[in-house]
Amino acid sequence: MKVVVIGAGFGGLGCARALSNPPMADVDVTIVDAKDAFTIGGTWEYAWSGRVADADTTWKLEDAKANFPGVTWKLRTRVEKLVLYPWDDSKLRHLLLSDGEELTFDVLVLSPGVVGDAAAIPGMSDTLDVYAHDSIAKQRRDLERMIAAAKARQRAHDADADADEAGAKKKKKKKGKLAIAIGATPYKCPVAPFEVAFIADDAFRAAGCRDEIDIVVTSPVPWPLPDPAKEIFTRLMLEKGVEYVPEKKIKRVTDDGRCLEFDDDDQIAADVVWSVYPQIAPPFIHAAGLAAGGGKGPIGFVPVDPRTNLIGPISSGCELAKEGLRDVYCVGDCASVVVGGLNPKPQPKAGEFAWQMGEMVAHRILKTEGYAHSRVGACIAECGGGGGVLVKPDFTEAVADPGLGAVRVSVEEKAAPEGEDAKMAWVNKYVELIFGGKGRAFVAATKAA
Ligand SMILES: Cc1cc2nc3c(=O)[nH]c(=O)nc-3n(C[C@H](O)[C@H](O)[C@H](O)COP(=O)(O)OP(=O)(O)OC[C@H]3O[C@@H](n4cnc5c(N)ncnc54)[C@H](O)[C@@H]3O)c2cc1C
Repeated sequence: MKVVVIGAGFGGLGCARALSNPPMADVDVTIVDAKDAFTIGGTWEYAWSGRVADADTTWKLEDAKANFPGVTWKLRTRVEKLVLYPWDDSKLRHLLLSDGEELTFDVLVLSPGVVGDAAAIPGMSDTLDVYAHDSIAKQRRDLERMIAAAKARQRAHDADADADEAGAKKKKKKKGKLAIAIGATPYKCPVAPFEVAFIADDAFRAAGCRDEIDIVVTSPVPWPLPDPAKEIFTRLMLEKGVEYVPEKKIKRVTDDGRCLEFDDDDQIAADVVWSVYPQIAPPFIHAAGLAAGGGKGPIGFVPVDPRTNLIGPISSGCELAKEGLRDVYCVGDCASVVVGGLNPKPQPKAGEFAWQMGEMVAHRILKTEGYAHSRVGACIAECGGGGGVLVKPDFTEAVADPGLGAVRVSVEEKAAPEGEDAKMAWVNKYVELIFGGKGRAFVAATKAA
């Protein structure tokens, strides 16, 4: 049996690892990725806030090969086109790759993640995408620039006060503003925009200029995380002076990426806007006709049966796939997993869920006897100073029974240094799973010192 896995991110690697450990003589696995390195988004904030080098956030996939026995790797190879014939079983389904190869398969597992779709909101491309790895250096420069400007304002204000104490008191002090704007839901790692706000808050405090800068997070929905997380995050935002502005759908961004204009004609002007671009499946998935255009599930992702991750014509948790695409699976961020019966909701997009979906599909392909699937995530939002919040959603029952299965979410605040320790342990769990002995452990500078 020839299995082709597209994408060597969390979902694709979770699948390929389970398919190859132990290696099966009758299963031939090929994994294809446009890149040659793996990154963990949960490490990026350590880089843009200056606690590790940018290079510490990536690992060479070459070093993973020994941990995936028998797998054929096609790295630096892009899927240009996916050709399926759902109506005709006699035709050879295949992929066209950037090196000119026409790759056929018996089973296809798609895990190509998502792409930021800045074009969906006019002017959004003038803002920084916090979900793009190549934004890290610019994000760090933005932070440094805001700190320098805040200090300059503080010095000017102090000089004014020295010159004329009474006059300075009358003057309203101008503040800087950092806006973190969520363009659309669902998006991957829902806690990340709040984490970004907390790390920026921490950086401004450490630089002694927090009073000079406002931080605001905007969201198009009332609350983008699981409901049980709302209380802790609301309290933390209050304590840290981070303003949360819900139900603000961005109409356009003007003033070179500094002014957010909303559907209700409200505006927020900021010195710096960091955005969550609307996220959708990559172009080759749309071209193959696999991205959903409506129903009750979100638009732009691939609808799958939550019980199997087979691609199917489902539009909600109640209306399960009657006939999915034969042996074509989609896992990870690209997949739209909708559960919750009468009140259907997408399962949040996270690395841990992507990995688990990949593993589940592998065991389905291998028909592993006695395999019991668990869909429990652990997202640790760093809150600054080594503290964190652990959000642990359990979708095990919900994906087993998308109509009636319950979703359980536990939320736990972790004091310093346990928050940062838990985050690093989470990152290093995946470094070990993917790279084994060849994996460079992730250590933030504060821990290494
Ligand atoms: C800043 C940030 C923080 C995060 N923090 C966390 C966290 O703390 N916990 C957590 O669980 N998750 C976190 N996430 C989310 C997590 O990274 C994603 O959910 C996860 O990467 C999804 O895995 P995936 O396999 O679906 O996609 P990806 O990991 O994005 O992998 C997709 C792969 O497919 C490849 N690909 C795409 N198109 C093609 C093509 N045409 N041809 C060939 N290859 C292609 C890409 O190169 C890529 O390697 C975070 C994400 C970010 C950005």
